Order: sequence, then structure tokens, then C-alpha cells
Amino acid sequence: MPPLHLSARQYRRPFHQPLRTHHGDWTERTGLILRLTDSEGAIGFGEVAPIPWFGTETLGAALTYFQALGSHPPAAALHNPPDTLPACQFGLQSALAQLKAPGSERPPLKPAQIWALLPSCVAAIAAWRSLWSLGHRTFKWKIGLAAPPQEQAVLAQLVAALPPSAKLRLDANGGLTVAAAEQWLCHCQHFGHRVEFLEQPLPPEQWPGLQKLGDRFGPLVALDESVATVAQLAQVCAAGWSGTVVLKPAIAGHPQRLQDLYQRYRLRGVFSAALCTPIGQSAALAIAARLDPNQKRALGFGVGQWFQDDWGTLTAAQLWAQLPQSGWI
Ligand SMILES: [Mg+2]
Repeated sequence: MPPLHLSARQYRRPFHQPLRTHHGDWTERTGLILRLTDSEGAIGFGEVAPIPWFGTETLGAALTYFQALGSHPPAAALHNPPDTLPACQFGLQSALAQLKAPGSERPPLKPAQIWALLPSCVAAIAAWRSLWSLGHRTFKWKIGLAAPPQEQAVLAQLVAALPPSAKLRLDANGGLTVAAAEQWLCHCQHFGHRVEFLEQPLPPEQWPGLQKLGDRFGPLVALDESVATVAQLAQVCAAGWSGTVVLKPAIAGHPQRLQDLYQRYRLRGVFSAALCTPIGQSAALAIAARLDPNQKRALGFGVGQWFQDDWGTLTAAQLWAQLPQSGWI
């Protein structure tokens, strides 16, 4: 097969408001769009969207890799970037997959298929109604930001106010103590199926504690930060994790390896975006649809509203045309 032509352009997407994370305020999303062209002129786009504090490479490491590859990289380098570059693996595999199956962009999701983020603490009670009227049926709520009794009282009010078919997902982002996590999970059990799960009660470093919670509470405990990359997911699966996993294909690494793990361990997974452009989102959704064709659970792909731009309305080719040429590949 004649070598493919690779080009890449960098993007920056400022958020409307900085996103609060445990690693400080995040003001803009940065990444790369890749374009592969074959000798017949067919085109495949891919996105490299690293989140270093989730265990991926930095954007700088991705740039260095592509600068070294050049515009006509050998096939082996295209298919197998090192495991230290999971976002590059996803981006290249997405572009290669699109070359093989052109026109495979997916239709936009409906609100009922996407969870909506509620504001933290008591503000959630006033906020759910407008999101419900937009069509959302699953709501995510961050916890661990105020005293547990206060937040638990708000949760009880929320559950009482929401229509019975609404579902809640709690996310602690690793911010609880073991005692608080146990107490929260017992509290959630009172609400039956109304609370789907509690994400990442403890930080990934506290694996034995997480495993105990998983053994005791089963699918009510979900891992997110602990399973960001395929390598981390493989470790957790091998250790016998029995709870839920939140998967972000865009930063996980090689899609085929994600699929192999998902099927081998019959994972109970929910899928989420990594604040990608429509190019990365479409590729991640295709992976989610392949791994979980029924998709009864809401996806975390409703992110367009976070950005100042209108990229959600653009095709891949239009988006590419808007980006400045990099000059290095
Ligand atoms: Mg999470």
C-alpha cells in the first residue's frame, strides 16, 4: 500500500467559563486534528485530545511525536504509537477507520441519550426543571463540595422533586474519605434505581479502598479517573473489579484494545466524551455504539454548550478549514 499523507493542525477552544477541576481552573481545550489522505484522495480525520491529569500524554508530547513522524510516516508508526501516547493512538486509529469507511459520521444525539450536569449543592434543586424540559432524563451531580449531611439533604429533596423516570449519577472525583464514601453509598441505596452510581469516591491511588467499596456495593460504585487509559483499565479488570466503569474512548488509547477488554471482562460500562470537537466525538460515539449496541444508559457527550465557538455545527472538513496551518507537518 502506498504511504498515506499525514497532516495535523492545532486547535484551541476557550470555554465560556473556566471548568473547575482538582487541578485548578481549565480555561481552554487544546488538541490536534489529524488528516490522513491516501493516493486516491480519500480523507480520514482524527482528533488527539489529551487530558494529562487523567493520565494521558501532554499536548507537547503529542506534537513532538507527530513532528518526528513527518508527513509520510511508515505504516507501523501510524498503526502503533507507543502506549505512553493514548490520545495519539485514538486519533490515528480514528483517522484510519474513517479512511476505510468514509461517510461514517454519526447523527447528533438526542438530549434523552445524554446526561446533563446539575450545578453543585443546593442550586441543583432549581436547575433540573429546565434541563428536563430540554429532554434530558439523566442528571449528573458533583458531590464532596460541601458537608455530607448538607449534600445528602439536597439529594433527598432532588429525588423527591424529580419525576420517577429521572436518574441521577453522583460524581465525587476522588474527593471523599473512606468513611464518607461508605456513608454516601449507604445513603444512595435508600433511593434504589433512582441513583445509578457514584463515580470515583476515592482517588485512584487508594485502590484497596476502592476495591472494598466495589465488593460491598457492586455496580453502585463506578470508576472514572482510575480507568482513564486502556493500561489502567486492564489492571483494574485483572484485579477483579465488579463495579461500573466510565470509559472515555478519546483518551483511553487503542480502540481495539478497549474493545477486547470490554468484551473479555463483560464490563458494565458507561461512555463519556473528553470535551472533544465533533471529530473526536463522532469517533468515540462509534466505539460506544460498537461496544454497547443497546445503549440504554445515558452518554456523557453533551459538551457543545461549554465552548464559545460553533464547531458543533461544522463538518470535519469545515472544521479543518478553519484551523491555522501548522507549518511543521
Ligand atoms: Mg467522573
